[in-house]
Amino acid sequence: MDNCLFCKIASKKIPASVVYEDEEMLAFKDINPAAPVHLLVIPKVHVATLSDTTAEHTAMLGRLLALAPKLAEEHGCAVVHGPDGPQGGYKTLINSGPNGGQEVYHLHLHVIGGPKPWSGQR
Ligand code: 5GP
Ligand code: ZN
Repeated sequence: MDNCLFCKIASKKIPASVVYEDEEMLAFKDINPAAPVHLLVIPKVHVATLSDTTAEHTAMLGRLLALAPKLAEEHGCAVVHGPDGPQGGYKTLINSGPNGGQEVYHLHLHVIGGPKPWSGQR
């Protein structure tokens, strides 16, 4: 998609603070973070919203979601099961469409958390 911001980030036409990349996915820091850790994970292929996914995207969606705990671990906000119960953690969020608060129409997963517990709304 020529006019898509996140396609431009995926193809490196626009810079971003990339924290993970493979053939299919890219993760980078949100430019306006809502918490100490705020990452966006995108498929490199253009899909506008979660509602534009079909059965052929199921495996991609699984890999997209599976990146969240890996990135959370790397950025210090994994869930840790201690003697007093679970600690740490993060929020995973996909906004879809205008009523879902989506601003950029390229499917992306927010991973929001930080060293301190964070439970804000976004
Ligand atoms: P949405 O509301 O669509 O779920 O989230 C879009 C997110 O993209 C917002 O959190 C916003 O801060 C982030 N964003 C918008 N433009 C840019 C950009 O040029 N670079 C980066 N890294 N993030 C962006
Ligand atoms: Zn795109």
